[in-house]
Amino acid sequence: MNESKKIPYKIYLEESELPKAWYNLRADMKVKPAPLLNPGTLQPMTAEELEPVFCKELVKQELDDVNPFIEIPEDILNFYKMYRPSPLVRAYCLEEKLQTPAKIYYKFEGNNTSGSHKLNSAIAQAYYAKKQGLKGVTTETGTGQWGTALSMACSYFGLDCKVYMVKVSYEQKPFRREVMRTYGATVTPSPSPDTNVGRKLLAEYPGTTGSLGCAISEAVEAAVSNEGYRYVLGSVLNQVLLHQSVIGLETMAALDKYGVKPDIIIGCAGGGSNLGGLIAPFMGRKLRGEADYRFIAVEPASCPSFTRGKLAYDFADTGKVCPLAKMYTLGSGFIPAPNHAGGLRYHGMSGTLSQLYHDGLMEAVAVSQTAVFKAAEEFARVEGILPAPESSHAIKVAIDEALKCRETGEEKTILFGLSGTGYFDLVAYEQYHDGKMSDYTPTDAELEAGFAGLPKV
Ligand SMILES: *Cc1c(COP(=O)(O)O)cnc(C)c1O
Repeated sequence: MNESKKIPYKIYLEESELPKAWYNLRADMKVKPAPLLNPGTLQPMTAEELEPVFCKELVKQELDDVNPFIEIPEDILNFYKMYRPSPLVRAYCLEEKLQTPAKIYYKFEGNNTSGSHKLNSAIAQAYYAKKQGLKGVTTETGTGQWGTALSMACSYFGLDCKVYMVKVSYEQKPFRREVMRTYGATVTPSPSPDTNVGRKLLAEYPGTTGSLGCAISEAVEAAVSNEGYRYVLGSVLNQVLLHQSVIGLETMAALDKYGVKPDIIIGCAGGGSNLGGLIAPFMGRKLRGEADYRFIAVEPASCPSFTRGKLAYDFADTGKVCPLAKMYTLGSGFIPAPNHAGGLRYHGMSGTLSQLYHDGLMEAVAVSQTAVFKAAEEFARVEGILPAPESSHAIKVAIDEALKCRETGEEKTILFGLSGTGYFDLVAYEQYHDGKMSDYTPTDAELEAGFAGLPKV
């Protein structure tokens, strides 16, 4: 028997080995991520200023860059048990196909009805809203992964869930919309006539099909103008990366059990939550000088926040109602070309990951979408799982790194995050198969137009 086959195809943890606390990476960062600023006073946002918009306990987590571990409440642990631990898979079949000496592992987060890692944070956010005695929460969703996860979490705790869904997706992608309604959420196409921001946009741009930035503004307005509601967000924020650390903690426990140390850790980055969650405990070890790893963020060439963006304070939303966040950004006015990885189309990036990237602790690469779908198909054919287009960005770079090992003969260990499944993305797969998918890379002039809209801070 091949020595390496001693490692099972799927490494699962026992229930007793599951993480009981989230890991707060910021506690180990020497240079902390920059604070959120009040857009009016340009002073750091205080808890009192954030609490009308966000749940109290979540505000505390958002501002906490001191405590390394935050205990996971029992109700959340019980919910996690319904679909966690997620499998850590040794990609023996992919290694064989690529004829590489590299050892490839992936952590698969798509084994729940919402189909992605977003449920890990949705359940935490719904729990704290319920604990605070709120009636419900509001949010935005692009193609629907976050809205689906949140509606599942809200139905579990008996909370009302109002989702503003970007109009073009609401109309063209009815499947996730119907999953959300099955779980009891109200789904409104954005921009809508229900909010001031929505009415203003509809008057200015009649017939607009909406954007994520606009849906965020509507959801925030709905939260602050409805008694007993707060706004929740599925990525970018520190609290979301904190909840997503379960991905990395499980992965680290499983690899440690078999004495495996990854050399390279790869993940796709939209707002940075799945990547931030996967790398968190490994980055912690690196920051404390206990081990070294290469970390690679993968983004679409059509929305290159890290590789071509600027580290600057920027608006999180079109309506400019949210606090200013310092992050790698393309400008809140940047509208990426239609791209099939809907979850990677946000103009900005997590402040925590932005700081780590700025400090040279992490690398980033941008890849084109046809290359991503080619990798997705190659992966699906040997590993069986139909990957989400977002997750396939990580597959593409994992394959590239494994092929480099084939050239050099190095037996590196590569770990990547497989954040979700692609069952609702079959129109994209269809376009790829029919040769109708194109690649788009914004010109420098287009990026300059986005940077011109950055606030002067
Ligand atoms: C939302 C989403 C992403 C991108 O969001 P991050 O916060 O960067 O993780 C990636 N993959 C899947 C499957 C998603 O649903």
